[in-house]
Formats: sequence, structure tokens, C-alpha cells
Amino acid sequence: MKSQNDVASLVNISTQKWPPRQRTYFGSLEIATPREGETYAITQIHGCKGVIDLGDKRNMDYAISAREIAEDLAREINGDSGEGSFHGVFVAEGAVPTPVELRTAREKLETFQRRLVEIADLEWERSHNPMFITDLERRAARELKLDKPWLYDPKPHAECPACGEKIKPGVAVCRTCGAILDREKAAKFGLGVVEQRTASDDAQQQKTGSRKN
Ligand SMILES: [Zn+2]
Repeated sequence: MKSQNDVASLVNISTQKWPPRQRTYFGSLEIATPREGETYAITQIHGCKGVIDLGDKRNMDYAISAREIAEDLAREINGDSGEGSFHGVFVAEGAVPTPVELRTAREKLETFQRRLVEIADLEWERSHNPMFITDLERRAARELKLDKPWLYDPKPHAECPACGEKIKPGVAVCRTCGAILDREKAAKFGLGVVEQRTASDDAQQQKTGSRKN
């Protein structure tokens, strides 16, 4: 007995993807994300019927309006990231969002993103540690097209097991002591293996090579 007319438009202006929303009364629902070239996406929300278990195998149905559900979802998505938390989801008054509604939402999102960037700037000033910058703050800076020193993914420097000096991740040979850190990679660049190779080694390699083929 779902009312065909009871529909609300949940509007999303963000490119962020959220895990599907789960509710007992509608199961699982994916929030639509704007496609390339679109500024917003609409997820149609329908009114539902909730069921209250009264015990003794007695249930009571109750109606939940589309708007109630949409507001609840918008609140859930927007509201867990601190003061002014907004992630670009709102319920439109009509079937499609008005220019004013869209502009208001964009401003709200930008204000929140700028706030996140400010927090990250302060954190960076304090610690200079990219580990303390959240994914949310990175995304905010990228969406505002701001270049920040804390934007770059943290690549922790490792230590050479032979000499203890700092080494860049993924290098084949230690710059300081020459220890081979990645045998396969070193061989590929002709490092470290050449001088150890003898004529019989070469012959052996050729044999194994032809056997493989
Ligand atoms: Zn070393």
C-alpha cells in the first residue's frame, strides 16, 4: 500500500561515494553521485512502512514519509565530521533542486571544506606529519583545487637493514652502503650481480631459460 505520490528527492552535489545506507524498512540504498559533467545527482526516496514488534506475534505498521526518510539520510551522511559538517547532501523542496538550493548547498560545502583545510594547515604547522592529516581534509583541499604540502601521500622512509641509514621506499640498492635491498630489481638494472656472475653461471642461466621456454 505504498503511496505512489510520496516521493522525496535527495540531492547530492558531492563526488564522494558512500557505502549503501541500511534501514530495516527499505533494506539497502545507494546514494547517487553526479556523473561526469553533471553538478548533482538525485536519489528518489519513497515513503515506507515501518513495523513495530508488539510481541505475541503482533506487529503494528506505521507510515514513514519519504521526506522523513530523506531528511534522516541527509542528516546521517552530513553529520559526523565536526562543526558545520556538510558533505553535499540535502533534500530538495520539489522534484528537482532549484538554483538557489544548489547554490546554498555549494556554499555550505565549500565553507566546510575550507574549514577542514584550515584545520589541516594548523596541524601541519604544528607537527609537519602527514599522518595527522585526515582523508577528509585531503579531499577537501583537492576539491578546492588547493596545493598543500600535506596533500602528498605519506611515504614513510625505511631504514637500510645493513647500515641503518634512511632509504627511499622501493629502491634496489642502499645509496649509503651499497647493500642490495631488492635482488630482483637490482639484477634488472645490472646492479650488484654482474661482478658475481661467472661463465658457468651464465651457461646455467641460459639452460634454465631455455627450459622455461
Ligand atoms: Zn645501507
